Amino acid sequence: MSFGAGVLKGLVVTFKNMWTSYTTPRFQSGGVTTLLYPEEKPQLRENFRQFPFLIYDGDDPMGGIRCTACKICEQECPPQCIFIIQEKDERGKPVQRPKVFDIDMSICMSCQICAEVCPFEAIRMDHDFELSEYGRFSELYYRMDRLLKPNTYYHSIKPTDATADDAAVRAREEKKRAAEEKRRAAAAAKAAEAKAAEATAAADAAPAPAASAGDAVVAPRPAPASQPPSESSPGGLG
Ligand code: SF4
Ligand code: SF4
Repeated sequence: MSFGAGVLKGLVVTFKNMWTSYTTPRFQSGGVTTLLYPEEKPQLRENFRQFPFLIYDGDDPMGGIRCTACKICEQECPPQCIFIIQEKDERGKPVQRPKVFDIDMSICMSCQICAEVCPFEAIRMDHDFELSEYGRFSELYYRMDRLLKPNTYYHSIKPTDATADDAAVRAREEKKRAAEEKRRAAAAAKAAEAKAAEATAAADAAPAPAASAGDAVVAPRPAPASQPPSESSPGGLG
């Protein structure tokens, strides 16, 4: 390609970009990419991703947190910037929610792997990109309270994904409820069976009931042995 043709091609591209910036909606179909930021905010596409956040349902962040502290995201995160400690109850038994869930955003590379591997629709990628801080350490180390955001927020930034996630959450809860009902029914049937077997065993082990007086069976007396007539008896021959 000659030098003149290259310059001409570049001018065509420049003119095309200038034309589309005035004729297409912003941030759609290759429209204008320069905004009067921060007065003007870009309209982000649904699949835009910045850093991860945790989702909770309802009004109570810890009551409605979806994360079960399964730690799959922690294991799969390529730069290992997620730190999770599972919650325990007063008897030391593990509870299915995190006690600690931190992400070091100074390390996170927005790869979205954590969101893709999460089996509970609990961690998703945020749209919030205005995260500049004056420090590089604690300022960018996000604790759980900073990561938690309501499902309504998720719907506001990614309605398509949020609706699909809601359906998945409902289906899982329904499956869990059906399995629990089945388990309870099986336990109840087993308990009833055990009770019936116990009652049968008790009946077999009990002594036979004593017969009543009226029903007493009198053993027949043995018939008296026949005696030969005595000689001194009055009816004797002598
Ligand atoms: S987006 Fe990637 S790097 Fe960031 S926390 Fe998730 S898995 Fe780790
Ligand atoms: S965010 Fe998801 S993958 Fe990570 S620990 Fe919680 S439930 Fe598991």
